[in-house]
Amino acid sequence: MSAHHAVVVGAGFGGLEAVHRLAGAPVRITLVDRRNHHLFQPLLYQAATASLAPSEIAWPIRHLFRRRPEVTTLLASVESIDKEARELHLDDGSTLGYDTLVLATGARHAYFGHDAWEPFAPGLKTLEDATTIRSRILLAFEEAERQSDERKRAALMTFVIVGAGPTGVELAGTIAELARATLPADFRRIDTREARIVLIEAGPRVLPAFAEDLSIYAKRSLERLGVEVVLGQPVSECSADGVVFGGKSLAAATIIWAAGVQSSPAAQWLDAPADRAGRLKVERDLTVPGHPEIFAIGDAAIVFRSDGRPVPGIAPAAKQEGVYVANVIRARLRGAPALPPFRYSHAGDLATIGKRRAVIDFGWIKLRGALAWWLWGFAHIYFLIGVRNRLSVALNWLWIYARDQRSARLITWRGGEVEGTAPFSRGDSDRS
Ligand SMILES: Cc1cc2nc3c(=O)[nH]c(=O)nc-3n(C[C@H](O)[C@H](O)[C@H](O)COP(=O)(O)OP(=O)(O)OC[C@H]3O[C@@H](n4cnc5c(N)ncnc54)[C@H](O)[C@@H]3O)c2cc1C
Repeated sequence: MSAHHAVVVGAGFGGLEAVHRLAGAPVRITLVDRRNHHLFQPLLYQAATASLAPSEIAWPIRHLFRRRPEVTTLLASVESIDKEARELHLDDGSTLGYDTLVLATGARHAYFGHDAWEPFAPGLKTLEDATTIRSRILLAFEEAERQSDERKRAALMTFVIVGAGPTGVELAGTIAELARATLPADFRRIDTREARIVLIEAGPRVLPAFAEDLSIYAKRSLERLGVEVVLGQPVSECSADGVVFGGKSLAAATIIWAAGVQSSPAAQWLDAPADRAGRLKVERDLTVPGHPEIFAIGDAAIVFRSDGRPVPGIAPAAKQEGVYVANVIRARLRGAPALPPFRYSHAGDLATIGKRRAVIDFGWIKLRGALAWWLWGFAHIYFLIGVRNRLSVALNWLWIYARDQRSARLITWRGGEVEGTAPFSRGDSDRS
């Protein structure tokens, strides 16, 4: 076995792809993640809205590499890096040396300096976030059923989503369908169809990364589902009572945060330059300035395209960067000349609005409506790992499509701290 030791931190889209693409290379790999599973974040909103079970969108990392004896999986959190000694410091106090280091530690949601809002307005990044949000939504209906005070019942039946990027739009559309189509028959005292779902966006339109006509279509589709869309109004307060925006208060028991991005602290660990969202500014070969042995990829890093625009914080970008880094490492081990700089190729942007409509912006062609939804569905099933999960997700979606039934309506959290808070500042991705 080769003495060259590559350590990959983070088994998200970027890290996992790098390890996959290093198969067969003369390298010993340690893959470190503070969670034992790889998570398919694009479908996390479905776990948060009771449409899919957590196990349908996450896979044990150890199992994914069971046939790769040169890959060791380590369940640990990286806390700091000694770049001179080439060592990682882990949460159990141990150290891990490396010859090559790939940092793929992702990002979380950010509260724009208002971290105190987090307990009232949890964001969506981990499975724990999803099950917490799912519980909060379902608990709000349970409590409304028992509440005789009309004002309090109205607050319990009000769901606010802050941020109208794809995650906010997807959450709002699905909560509306849950309230209008899935839950009504289950309750006796309340009519869940009367729930208010309010999507608040500081900018002038929903889905700002998409073409304007698709944004207009998405807004209309949301409104048809019964979502109230508020544009151009930044939220100035989140509390146990609800939200304040545009100088008005709205009483709401459930607030979900889908705005803002804060990268993992990889740049702080290395004392390296970062942008405002904390993303490490890497060279065009994705190495950390002055440290050719350290790469940073995915949501933890920022790199620019040839036209000066940043590579977006989305899964395909992280995967392409993972492939590139694996190729650079392979070339170096072969003693081959340096590869040309990383080039990102953008396939398009996708978002769903409920169970029947989606928008897809390929740049050269734009799709909307049912056709876009089916394409979105096939694309996501294709990218899931394993036949069992693909079949199970497809079956669940067909069931929801035909019967409006969402099977994962489980309350697994009933108050206290928000579960799954990460030891670094929180942030969603560019997609939020
Ligand atoms: C709700 C949601 C929906 C999204 N939907 C889409 C979508 O539809 N399409 C799309 O293209 N993109 C989507 N994205 C964005 C996409 O998921 C990210 O861009 C992508 O996951 C980035 O990959 P990554 O490898 O950089 O980080 P991640 O996939 O986030 O992986 C980071 C990994 O690092 C680990 N880690 C972090 N810190 C440490 C540490 N200190 N020590 C050890 N391990 C650590 C984490 O546990 C995690 O496993 C979505 C994101 C969210 C949050």
